[in-house]
Amino acid sequence: MNRWDSLTQLKHEDTKSRGFFRRCNSWCLCALVVCFTLPTLGQSLQFAFEKEGRFIAPEQRFALSFARGIDAYEGPQPFDMLHYRLDINLPMTVDALEGSVRMLMRLKENADSLVLHSVGLSLDTVRVDGVLKSTSRDSATESFTIHFNGTRTAGETLQIDIDYHRIPGYPRPSSRRGFYFFRDTIGLPSNLGYTFSEPSDARFWFPCYDEPWEKATAELNITAPNGYVAASNGKLIGTTNNGNSTTTWRWRQNQPITTYLMCMTVSRFSVSMIPYVKSTGDTIPLQYYTWNAPPFIDSAWTASFLTTVGQMVSAYSGLFGEYPFDKYGMTCIVPFGYLGMEHQTITTMNRYYATSHRVVSHELAHQWWGNDVTCGTWADIWLNESFATYSEALWREHLYGFDSLKAYMRDTLSGFQFGSWQGAIYDPVGQGFNLFDQVVYTKGGWVLHTLRGVVGDSAFFSMLRAYRDKYQGKSAVTSELKAVADSVVGSDMSWFFNQWIFGKGWPKYSSRFTGAADTISLTIQQQQDVLWPTYKMPIRVRAYHGMNRTDYIVQDSLRVQTFLLPLSVQPDSVVLDPDGWILKQIVAPTNVGEEKGKPGEFRLFQNYPNPFNPGTTLSFVIGHVSLVSLKVYDVLGREVAMLVHEVKNPGAYTLQFDASDLASGVYYYRMTSGSFSETKKMLLVR
Ligand SMILES: [Zn+2]
Repeated sequence: MNRWDSLTQLKHEDTKSRGFFRRCNSWCLCALVVCFTLPTLGQSLQFAFEKEGRFIAPEQRFALSFARGIDAYEGPQPFDMLHYRLDINLPMTVDALEGSVRMLMRLKENADSLVLHSVGLSLDTVRVDGVLKSTSRDSATESFTIHFNGTRTAGETLQIDIDYHRIPGYPRPSSRRGFYFFRDTIGLPSNLGYTFSEPSDARFWFPCYDEPWEKATAELNITAPNGYVAASNGKLIGTTNNGNSTTTWRWRQNQPITTYLMCMTVSRFSVSMIPYVKSTGDTIPLQYYTWNAPPFIDSAWTASFLTTVGQMVSAYSGLFGEYPFDKYGMTCIVPFGYLGMEHQTITTMNRYYATSHRVVSHELAHQWWGNDVTCGTWADIWLNESFATYSEALWREHLYGFDSLKAYMRDTLSGFQFGSWQGAIYDPVGQGFNLFDQVVYTKGGWVLHTLRGVVGDSAFFSMLRAYRDKYQGKSAVTSELKAVADSVVGSDMSWFFNQWIFGKGWPKYSSRFTGAADTISLTIQQQQDVLWPTYKMPIRVRAYHGMNRTDYIVQDSLRVQTFLLPLSVQPDSVVLDPDGWILKQIVAPTNVGEEKGKPGEFRLFQNYPNPFNPGTTLSFVIGHVSLVSLKVYDVLGREVAMLVHEVKNPGAYTLQFDASDLASGVYYYRMTSGSFSETKKMLLVR
């Protein structure tokens, strides 16, 4: 899934939409409210979906600690789901849905009943192996129980048949409708119906076992009035004209799929298609389902983008292993409360991001990370989202090289502003964050980049492939990824996972050095919150001396640690992690020799980087509780920014100074506190 966020670049040509989306972005991030508009309709229609706090069903909280499977996470339920067959009728003139579902399952244990999920659906008949059965409902867990009236034994295969319809007027939250229906009267070329189920809303449109760890093959037979096109998962087996002004679209997903990835998107679409040849020699279609009628003439510009999609499939296949499925399609719709949603083989794209490299590459990468290998529990959601987010950067690297990837990653560091970054990547909900908070997107993407830096490209991409090979078609939990990493790297990676995946925050390094005749003495201090891990990290250190440079790797593992590095000349500067592999905040190494004669316990350090454009980091130390002032002045002595003016407790402080609004030139920053006053110079170069 792809949420609105500040990195989003609007690709669509509709300039009228831009102002709205820009306002919308920053607002949505804080409020976790997703909104959208149809700016071309002449009237500004807005829909607000409130997503706060809905992301995990109550029973999942304890299900997370249940038994784990041997080969892949299997969950606590007493059965293996083998296959879903859905037959669904959509009138497409009103917001209604009826149908039947057939589930084939094999019992793993003896059972006299079984529990499945359903919300807002009337279960009209329920049969087990053709025999009518009674059910009881538990609305608190959004589930129902089928009573067998006897015991069925382990190893048996059961066929569950349920006829059902969606209950009109059932009080569904606006963000949890499962099935969404919009009429053309709001300005669309056609009536539109689609499903959106992540994480736990498939139960709103068909009875199922609605957990990410349980996967089965599936077929969806969707009946709609003639003229409508129904897109869904897997291969199109065929269409049948039923002779009553309706057509049935028959789709089959032969690779295992979990319920939140099942979907149908129905409107009067036209379909663009190009072939893609896999490395196996198999040819699969790449498709775009779009409107091509006023006011949305979308076929040509989306069709021309399919060539780029093919290049993305090829690039990711080279990195992760061959594309897993029989087709890759996208539907292009609006209104849609997200940028995109990676339904298996048929991503739903927000029309205004239909050719956005960032969004398209993110959703495509989910076909490997999330769809082929699915997060075993929602606590493991980073196995989907962090991987897809880092894949955005990998696509950039494929196009423009490693420097472009570095720039892409550096740009995302603005994410430090988000509160959820302070959490651990694993189990955001358990820490009080939204399941789809930034911690599992940009921070998680950064942690994967950090892991790549630690183990090197060869081991990193070998690990991705080994993980994919082992859990293809299955679900995996974080400990299973770690076991693969241990195996590929050849050592226990607990130290990395404990601090970066299960630990909070990030390291905040400060450092200073002194140069002697043949040695640099480098002291690195970790200044992050004491409740965050003390990070154990190999850090590359680069000493610059004249036109030369010398690199070292230090194994930093303490809050304060001093390293003696052999160097025969006095360096001009020393930089930690010069290639930008580590998720971190940093302040400049400071030559202690320049610091003599300062009053007592207060210090103001040189900004870093310097020169800068437009951001730089300022650091200072407070010796005792006091009123502290830190201001920035231009060369004429005019105050241009007040960064600090408050009572501070003793300690080391770091802050970011953004000079976006200032012209190039020399500036001074002065810290005062009681009798202490110190001024330093910095240079803004545009
Ligand atoms: Zn995603």
